[in-house]
Amino acid sequence: MEERIAENHHCGICEEKKRQGIHLYNMFICTECEYNMIHTEPREEKYQYYLQKLKNINQPTMFS
Ligand SMILES: [Zn+2]
Repeated sequence: MEERIAENHHCGICEEKKRQGIHLYNMFICTECEYNMIHTEPREEKYQYYLQKLKNINQPTMFS
C-alpha cells in the first residue's frame, strides 16, 4: 500500500523537504531515504544513524 503525497514534507531522516515519500506514524520519510535504508546493511555506519532516527517514531511525544 503506497500513499502518494503531492506537497513538500520535512523528511525525518535527511531533514530535507521532499515531495515524495511515506508516512510512518508521525514521521515522514522520503523515497530516497526509504530506498537507502532498505539498501543499508547492519554493519554500515549509516544503519545506526537510521536506527536512531527511527527510534524517535516509537517514542510518542507527550502533550501536557
Ligand atoms: Zn529523506
